[in-house]
Amino acid sequence: MSTGLAKPKKLKLTDYEVFQTLGTGSFGRVKLARNKQTNKYVALKSLKKAEIIRLKQVDHVINENTILGNLQHPFVVTFEGFCQDPRYLYLVLEFVSGGELFTYLRSIGRLDTQHAAFYGAQVASIFEYLHSKNIIYRDLKPENLLIADDGYLKLTDFGFAKVVEGRTYTLCGTPEYLAPEILLNKGHGKAVDWWTLGILIYEMNAGIDPFSDEDPMAIYQKILKGKVKFPKSFDKNAKSLVKHLLVADLSKRYGNLKNGAADVKNHRWFGNLDWNLLTQKKLPVPYKPVVKAPNDTSNFSSYPESDTQSPALKPADDPFLEW
Ligand code: AMP
Repeated sequence: MSTGLAKPKKLKLTDYEVFQTLGTGSFGRVKLARNKQTNKYVALKSLKKAEIIRLKQVDHVINENTILGNLQHPFVVTFEGFCQDPRYLYLVLEFVSGGELFTYLRSIGRLDTQHAAFYGAQVASIFEYLHSKNIIYRDLKPENLLIADDGYLKLTDFGFAKVVEGRTYTLCGTPEYLAPEILLNKGHGKAVDWWTLGILIYEMNAGIDPFSDEDPMAIYQKILKGKVKFPKSFDKNAKSLVKHLLVADLSKRYGNLKNGAADVKNHRWFGNLDWNLLTQKKLPVPYKPVVKAPNDTSNFSSYPESDTQSPALKPADDPFLEW
C-alpha cells in the first residue's frame, strides 16, 4: 500500500481458545476468545478468504487491517494483530463487553438528549482524529458502536475505512446512513462521516432514522429530497446541529468547513462539555452496562453456532499469505 502505514502484527491462532459468537459481519463471525498465554479475553473477527475474493474485497480487508493497526484512540477498539489459516483471516480485537449501542438503543427506545450528546461527542472526537490522519470511516451506525464496561464507546468495524486525500468513489455504507454525494456517485470525502453523525444524532434522539423506509429505493429518494422531519419532543439544540450536518451542500455542512471538527464540537448542543476530560474518560457516564465477568457475553444477542466451513484456498490463490 502507498499510505505509509505500518503493517499490523502477525499473531498465532493456536494461542487462542475460541468461544461463542458475539456478532456477525459481512464475511464471517466475531467470536469471544481467550489468549491462553495471558488469559485475556479478545474478540476474534473471522473473515472468509474465499468470500472476500469472490466479492473483490481484498483491498477493503487489507485497508481494515492496516488502518486499525495504526490507530490509537480512547473511543476506537484496540487491534492487537491478525492471524490466518487457508480458510480465514482473523482480526484480534479487544473484547468490548457492554454490547452494541444498537441493542441498547432499541431496548430503551430513545436516549435523553444529554445522553445522546455524550455519545455524539465521542463520535465527533473519533472523526476529528481519523480525519487528521486522512482516514474516512464511511460506516457509522449504532451496530458499530460498542459500549465498554466503563460506559464509554468504542468504534469497531473498519471494513469500509480508507485513507483518502480528496475524493473516492466506491459505493459503501448502510442505506439509512448514506450521504447524498455517495448516492449521486459524485465522489466523496471526509464530509460523508459528518453526514452520518447527523443521522446518528437524529436516531439517538428520536429512536428512528430520519430517512427510514422498508424499501431502500424509497430511503434513497428521501435522502436526495433532503427533507428532515423532527418529532415535537426533539431537543431544539440537537435539532440545530442535525440541521447543520444533514446538509447536501458540502460547502455548508458542519465538519467540512474551514474550521473542521471545531464547528461541530463548539455547537451549543454540547453545552460546556470538557472535551479533554471526555477523551480522558473522566466524565460521569449516563449508563454503565452490567458486566459480571471478563467473559460475560450477556449484553450480546445469541447466535446459532454454525459449523459449515469456508473452503480452503490453495497457497497460490491466497493474496493474504504474502501480505
Ligand atoms: P463487524 O463485522 O466488525 O461489524 O462485527 C459484527 C458484530 O460483532 C458487531 O456488531 C458486534 O456485535 C460484534 N463485535 C465486533 N467487534 C467486537 C468487539 N471488539 N468486541 C465485542 N463485540 C464485537
